Amino acid sequence: MGNDLSVVNAARVSLNRNSETFQDQDEKLIKYLLTKKHTSPFEHVVFTFLVKTPLFIRSQWMRHRMWSYNEISRRYTSENIDFYIPESFRKQADNNRQASIDEEIDNINIRDGFISHSKSVKNHISDTSIYLFESYKNLIEQGVSREQARMILPQNMYTSFYGTVDLWNLLHFLELRNDSHAQYEMRLYAQAIEKIVESIVPSTIKIWKKLKLTQ
Ligand SMILES: Cc1cc2nc3c(=O)[nH]c(=O)nc-3n(C[C@H](O)[C@H](O)[C@H](O)COP(=O)(O)OP(=O)(O)OC[C@H]3O[C@@H](n4cnc5c(N)ncnc54)[C@H](O)[C@@H]3O)c2cc1C
Repeated sequence: MGNDLSVVNAARVSLNRNSETFQDQDEKLIKYLLTKKHTSPFEHVVFTFLVKTPLFIRSQWMRHRMWSYNEISRRYTSENIDFYIPESFRKQADNNRQASIDEEIDNINIRDGFISHSKSVKNHISDTSIYLFESYKNLIEQGVSREQARMILPQNMYTSFYGTVDLWNLLHFLELRNDSHAQYEMRLYAQAIEKIVESIVPSTIKIWKKLKLTQ
């Protein structure tokens, strides 16, 4: 809902003015609003996204309290379950407790009783996901409630949610989540969102990128 014109019209209502079209010089007003942190005009542009993401990214996303959310409930349904299996795996950083490094790790040792063998990380995670999913289905088939059986489903299970947010809080989200401190997978979502909104509020995004000044 809304666009760059909604932002400048929200700001100019103080003067009892309203424009029908967005003019080039309106970018000056957007720059002024962003620079002076006159943030409320940006709240009149609202986005709703339908997001499909693994649980571990959902948890990070939903720390953003200024969004409104509605999510699939595994109390209601045990259908359409799938898992995120990345193509490659990053090593843990030595000098930063939360970060990974670009260097990849392909194989790990798996202990099977007394025998140890090498296996690709991807295959190991895929096999483990299948095992847990089969165990989940077994619990459901034997009458265990969905709300308890789901506890064994792993963090790489996909979930879906609607997320609604105004433009100001979205800029704040993008600043935090398209940042080198954010997890790589989270950054990909932030970059995708930035691309989507750029086509709807091109002037705001252009000026914000220059200023990188939100909150
Ligand atoms: C790289 C990174 C690492 C993180 N690591 C961790 C971690 O290890 N553990 C962890 O728990 N969280 C972690 N977080 C989450 C972080 O602490 C924030 O909860 C999250 O980024 C949401 O930011 P926010 O509160 O500014 O956004 P929102 O919740 O969307 O809020 C937007 C703004 O509204 C205001 N606001 C909202 N609610 C309140 C409130 N209750 N009181 C006062 N002001 C409020 C604040 O100004 C806030 O900036 C991490 C975030 C990032 C980006």
